[in-house]
Amino acid sequence: MPIDNDGVMIILSSPSGAGKTTLVNLLSKLDNFEISISHTTRKPRPSEIQNKDYFFVDENEFKRLIKNQEFLEYAKVFNNFYGSTRTPVINNLDNGKNVLFDIDWQGADQIKNKRLDYKLITFFILPPSKEVLFKRLSNRDMKDKLIADERMKQFEHDVLHWINYDYVVINNNLDDCYEKIYNLIQAEIKDGSKDYDKDFIRNHIEKLTS
Ligand code: 5GP
Repeated sequence: MPIDNDGVMIILSSPSGAGKTTLVNLLSKLDNFEISISHTTRKPRPSEIQNKDYFFVDENEFKRLIKNQEFLEYAKVFNNFYGSTRTPVINNLDNGKNVLFDIDWQGADQIKNKRLDYKLITFFILPPSKEVLFKRLSNRDMKDKLIADERMKQFEHDVLHWINYDYVVINNNLDDCYEKIYNLIQAEIKDGSKDYDKDFIRNHIEKLTS
């Protein structure tokens, strides 16, 4: 049963390449913050560690978890399944820990629609420009430019989901972006005043989508 001392759920979503995973990792270093480690059917990238970055599972195992209703949310993203299991999240929240989710808009919608009794704060992270995004995507472990092109096309669709989030934050500079998110989380938790310029964000999105 949720009570006042419970943790809050914090979702960070973004189009691919906006730097959200780095931000989630930075926030997780704060006292009392835990990352919800997702399950995925995607193959690990060379730098990724099993049970730390993800629980890497095959499709049969993922389907078993769906059937057992173990997921708080799950979705298919770029041809792979991703999902957040319910039990560790609820246990952490009940123990007063704030839980960070690095999930896409589909998962964010599902968690929002569940209307759990825990406080939920949602962030949508955007790149400063399409040019910067393309550069970031091309510099990843991408084998060829085709994948970067495909993700740029995906960006055009994904960016439209900004409207369903509490806050949109532009990742121009990692430290500034982190500080903005941190301050907004603190303001939400303590019910303080929020430094957030909606008109500036609307203008930025207009530029990104024109
Ligand atoms: P990547 O394969 O680059 O690690 O992640 C691809 C996308 O899947 C990212 O947008 C990431 O936020 C999203 N994602 C990762 N884990 C989950 C999850 O558990 N649920 C949902 N819905 N999306 C996830």
